[in-house]
Amino acid sequence: MDTTQMRTWAEISLPKLEHNYRVLRACIPAGCRFMGLVKANAYGHGAVPVARRLKELGAEYLAVACVEEAAQLRQAGVDGPLLILGAVPPGEMPLAVELGATVTVFEPEGARALSRAATAAGKTVKVHIKADTGMSRLGFPAREGELERSGAEILAACALPGLEAEGIFTHFANADGDEAYTMRQLTRFLELIDLLKGRGLEFQLRHCAAAAAVLHYPCTHLDMVRPGIALYGHYPDNDCRDLLPEELRPVMTLKTRAAFVRPVPAGTPVSYGCTHVLARDSIIATLPIGYGDGLFRVLSDRWKVRVRGRLAPLVGRVCMDMCMIDVTDIPGVTAGDEVEVFGGTVPVEDAAALAGTIQYELLCHVSPRVPRVYLD
Ligand SMILES: *Cc1c(COP(=O)(O)O)cnc(C)c1O
Repeated sequence: MDTTQMRTWAEISLPKLEHNYRVLRACIPAGCRFMGLVKANAYGHGAVPVARRLKELGAEYLAVACVEEAAQLRQAGVDGPLLILGAVPPGEMPLAVELGATVTVFEPEGARALSRAATAAGKTVKVHIKADTGMSRLGFPAREGELERSGAEILAACALPGLEAEGIFTHFANADGDEAYTMRQLTRFLELIDLLKGRGLEFQLRHCAAAAAVLHYPCTHLDMVRPGIALYGHYPDNDCRDLLPEELRPVMTLKTRAAFVRPVPAGTPVSYGCTHVLARDSIIATLPIGYGDGLFRVLSDRWKVRVRGRLAPLVGRVCMDMCMIDVTDIPGVTAGDEVEVFGGTVPVEDAAALAGTIQYELLCHVSPRVPRVYLD
């Protein structure tokens, strides 16, 4: 696609997505299923093209956060197994059933509401039971002493008309930091599964590993894995960089084009609040990207972008739709020059660290007005 006339865009490399998929697939056992996480617009990469590609590559399952995301995929013709990981409000259950999505069941009342929605539509809905083994977010309580009661509730839920119990899952709170805690969570999960098995309820798909657990703990792979961030070429933590035979490749590069370049004399303030006063005669380039596009304002005067192969610092506050960079030391910068904002050769991890957050958040916040340009 011709980007020469584009203001700001996110370049998405589908070959890099494919590379990451293959690297991850190679580290799980044959027969273990692969659930591709495409929630939050595929971590900002565009849910529909990413979901399509993952299906072509052989991902057996996809997962989204909510019914709206499931509907978006179905409308685009993405069929096949699709898990809604989050809580579906009762009012949206009929739509979830209609879409043929798999719904997460994590408490008795929700199970009954879903059963009513399915039977009213004359359909069966696949469900995955969610167990809370230590994240305290969503799930039937599954800490020590809670298994009996939750076991009984899960058995009752799975016996409801219109529900087909296909899977059971849990989520780790600290798979990137605390092995003992992760193993305690895994033990609780497996004990719950054993208890249910002893009462005649078995699940075809037991899953618990997001990217960090996929990389750190093969014992968590079970029947299916659920990597997200690693698919997009980012490590969940720095300790797992060396755990793979090949490097992951960042899929997204956020790019813009210099809109205006001119000399500004020493002593002149730049941007809102006049917080940055130029110490020398400078060449300032204005970029058509701001926090409205996903360039966090907290990166003002901190981040450096790449233009003509060199790093140029942001000067003054990032505005909603624009920001300024100092290109005094980079000869020849002109309006129309392409600029790498993050991704590519300016790691999003570094921007996230400066912003006091994680790469996930910066990727998710590349806003809808930024067109995604797919490389194939
Ligand atoms: C987001 C999410 C994942 C994927 O997490 P990553 O760290 O991106 O791999 C897996 N499972 C659940 C339940 C999630 O919410």
